[in-house]
Amino acid sequence: MADVKYIASCSFGKDSLAMVLRLIEKDYPLDEIIFFDTGMEFHAIYNNVEKLSKILLDKKIKFSILKDKYSFEFNAFQREVHKKDGTIAYGYDWCGGIRRWATASKLSTIKRYYKENYDNEIIIEYVGIASDESDRIEKYRIKRMNYIKIYPLVEWGMTENDCLNYCYKQGWNWKENGTDLYQILDRVSCWCCVNKNQKEIKNIMMYLPEYWERIKVYERRCGVPYKKKGTEYFEKKLLNNKKC
Ligand code: SF4
Repeated sequence: MADVKYIASCSFGKDSLAMVLRLIEKDYPLDEIIFFDTGMEFHAIYNNVEKLSKILLDKKIKFSILKDKYSFEFNAFQREVHKKDGTIAYGYDWCGGIRRWATASKLSTIKRYYKENYDNEIIIEYVGIASDESDRIEKYRIKRMNYIKIYPLVEWGMTENDCLNYCYKQGWNWKENGTDLYQILDRVSCWCCVNKNQKEIKNIMMYLPEYWERIKVYERRCGVPYKKKGTEYFEKKLLNNKKC
């Protein structure tokens, strides 16, 4: 009979972090935690990675940081991309929207990791999707015979708000420059993600100017305007409080 491995996938956003903390608190079976590092996470995420890694070491729970074999920068700006019209581009440029190439890389990296490390075992993967994110919730279904995803936050009835409050109560935060990222962003995902809405863009410009500068560098390097309109457009419109 194959062994069963219990693995939690954690992005270190509020939901998956709350899930991991509660799995530990409730003494659920937990063999390993995996974190896929895009290389473009906020400092606050890396701070929390470091903090949790010490707790896991103490509890003797394996912690693995997975990465694409190429850096985000290489994929974004340098990789040879053969287009349908026969031309060659360098880099996939921005990630987000329908072109979530780093998400695809995350999924294939995790799949490869499981194959290389647990090919003969049954994996039960805890996924941190909150109970009020119904559009993201997959049914409790077997993807393959040896790979099952389960959703503890749904089971516990924890909404996104519950997860954030739970993390705060346990002494966790996402502070940068004295501001908690969850007070100014809807999602704490890659700082360069083009899925950010106008409120988030404005807050990045106002509260996290160093990341805004990095977005401008990114834009210059890939030569494609940020969110089609470009950083200059958003600066002019949003900093003057005009509607875009
Ligand atoms: S958060 Fe955005 S930029 Fe990062 S991997 Fe996901 S879609 Fe891509």
